[in-house]
Amino acid sequence: MKAIFNKNSHQKPLIIAGPCSIETPSQLEETVGKLVEEGIFIIRGGVWKPRTRPGSFEGLGAIALPWIQELKEKYPIQFAVEVASAQHVEEALNAGIDIFWVGARSTVNPFTVQEIAESLKGVDIPLMVKNPVNPDLSLWIGAVERFLKAGITDLAVVHRGFSNFRDTLHRNSPLWQIPIEFRTHFPDLMMINDPSHISGKRNLVPIIAQKALDLNFDGLMIESHIHPEQAWTDAAQQLTPQDLGILLQHLKTRKVHFEGSEALNQLDDIRQQIDQADHDLLEAIHRRMELVDKIGEYKKLNNVAVLQLERWQEILQTRPEWAQQLGINKEVIVEIFSLLHQESIRKQTEILDRD
Ligand code: PEP
Ligand code: MN
Repeated sequence: MKAIFNKNSHQKPLIIAGPCSIETPSQLEETVGKLVEEGIFIIRGGVWKPRTRPGSFEGLGAIALPWIQELKEKYPIQFAVEVASAQHVEEALNAGIDIFWVGARSTVNPFTVQEIAESLKGVDIPLMVKNPVNPDLSLWIGAVERFLKAGITDLAVVHRGFSNFRDTLHRNSPLWQIPIEFRTHFPDLMMINDPSHISGKRNLVPIIAQKALDLNFDGLMIESHIHPEQAWTDAAQQLTPQDLGILLQHLKTRKVHFEGSEALNQLDDIRQQIDQADHDLLEAIHRRMELVDKIGEYKKLNNVAVLQLERWQEILQTRPEWAQQLGINKEVIVEIFSLLHQESIRKQTEILDRD
């Protein structure tokens, strides 16, 4: 079978769409019919739903599987479902499901991941591994390693964001640096973005989807429902197939590399200027560190404590103000100066404690 999750063999972005949960035969069929009209042929639909709290709709379970089989006879689609146990794997395989995904609440648990991986040994099925609920890169990498070990080769990962405490904008904070770092470990794995679970609300989905394409993600998994506001799960974030079609038309895809020698020359030129600017930056940091040593010696001579709180508070107030005047993001400067201050404290403590 031809691999689905092959970075080089498909048009970017790969689109996977469908309802959060399968609810009724008509909801499924109407949604899929409209998605196919929009040119979408890889369909997702939750059969078993992992819920954070009990009492919510937990998916229909195996009774929905024959409905999928019927639809597959009617439309040229491939169907993806979430599996969270060996039992799910067995039932879904028997029903001829084409693609599996492992959800965020499973990726956090190595026992669950291992159980699913064991049940997939010797099975040739495309698999997507969502990031764990918590922002832990190793858990995500570990899950992928378990599936690779089990012999799964048609593999992709899905970035669906991370739970948060006070991020009121997103349902799950994207923390883009985590998928980017993940990519440095597995540059050849396809990386799909799930803007629906990051957003938690319809109107944010296009913005997150575009951001993912700007960052060169290979595909998008987007929740779509024929009547989103009546959905049994994740009603606030699903899009109608028509709205999804409009969204896809408006998305701007980016080239992976620069094309043409003129563009490359310009890029080279700007990069050289960046190299010079970084050099200047490092020299300025070096100068600052020398002054820090000097002040350390002076504190030692006078037997004064390293941490001078008022001075630190003054730095913490003035530097972001200066940054803002230059049009630089204040938060970034606070972080950079916190690191510089930590290093100053370390160096000065070393000087003070030296015999
Ligand atoms: C889902 O895809 O509907 C789902 C439950 O997602 P996640 O595992 O990302 O929470
Ligand atoms: Mn969902």
